[in-house]
Amino acid sequence: MIPAPFEYQRATSVDEAIRLLSDGGDDAKLLAGGHSLLPLMKLLLATPALLVDIGGISDLSYVRDSGERLAVGALTRHADLGRNDLCRSEAPLLAHVAGQIGDPQVRNRGTIGGSIAHGDPASDLPAACLALEASFVVAGPSGQRTIAATAFFRGFLETALAPDEVIVEILVPKVPGAGWSFQKFNRRAMDWAIVGVAAVTNGSTCIGLVNMGATPLRATGAEEALAGGASAAEAAGHAADGLDLPSDLNATPEYRRHLATVLVRRALEEAAQNRT
Ligand code: FAD
Repeated sequence: MIPAPFEYQRATSVDEAIRLLSDGGDDAKLLAGGHSLLPLMKLLLATPALLVDIGGISDLSYVRDSGERLAVGALTRHADLGRNDLCRSEAPLLAHVAGQIGDPQVRNRGTIGGSIAHGDPASDLPAACLALEASFVVAGPSGQRTIAATAFFRGFLETALAPDEVIVEILVPKVPGAGWSFQKFNRRAMDWAIVGVAAVTNGSTCIGLVNMGATPLRATGAEEALAGGASAAEAAGHAADGLDLPSDLNATPEYRRHLATVLVRRALEEAAQNRT
C-alpha cells in the first residue's frame, strides 16, 4: 500500500502543466483530485515517475453559460457541480449525477476532468456525458482540440488523450425541455454502481451505461429499438445487446443484463416525466 517513489511538481497554469508533461514523457501523470490515481499508485498498478499537480489551477474550476452549451472547467469538483445553480437548471442530469458520486470526501476532492480522463467504466460522469452528447476540450503542445464523448473512451482505462494533453473543459449541449434520468444500482448508498444508466430524451434518446463493459458505453441496442418505435419496456430488453458484459464479485454477466433491462426501463419511464 506504499506507492513507488515519484517526483512531484505543482503546475500553476495549463501551459506549465503541458510543458511538465512533455518533459516527463510517458512516465509523467497529472494529479487532480487524486481519488482515482492515488489508489492505483498505492496498489502499484500505476507507477508514474513524475506527478504534475494541477489541483491548484483555480481558473479551471467553473460552470459557465456558453450560448448553446454549458461549459464546465475540468477541475470543477463533484460537490461544486452538484450544487451549481446553472448546471442544475441547464444540465440537471450532470448536477444530479455529480451529487450521487461516492461520499462527501470523494465529492469534495474528485474533479469532472479527472473522472473523464480516467475513463473508468464504473464511473458515473462519463456515462452522463455520453447521454448528454458532451464533448471535451483538450489542450496539448500544439494547441487545443475538441473530442466528442462518443470518440473518447477507447479501452479499459484508455482514452483518446495523448500523454501530454490536459482536459480543460467539458461542453454540454443545452437541451431545454429534454427528459432525463439517472438510475444507479448499488448495495450501499456510497458504493460504486454495480450497473448505472443515464438517459436523455429529446425527440431521440441517448442512453449511457455504467459498468457494462470495458469502457463507459452507449446502449445502442435500446436506442435503436426506441428509434424504431419500441416501447420503453421493449427497448429496455435490448439494453445489453452486443455488449461483452463484465463479471466481478458483485455481479455475473447475466445479473448485469437483468439489472440493465430493469434500470433502462425505469430510466426511460422517469425521463418521460422529468423535464429540464
Ligand atoms: P485523479 O485521481 O487525480 O486522476 C485520475 C486520472 O485522470 C489520472 O490518470 C490523471 O493523470 C488524469 N487526469 C486528471 N485530471 C486530468 C485532466 N484535467 N486532464 C487530463 N488528465 C487528467 N466515481 C464515480 O463516478 N462514482 C462513484 O461512486 C465513486 N466512488 C468513489 C469512492 C471512493 C472511495 C473513491 C476513492 C473514488 C470514487 N470515485 C467514484 C472516483 C472519483 O469520482 C474520482 O475522484 C474521479 O474518478 C477522478 O477524479 P480525480 O480528480 O480524483 O482524478
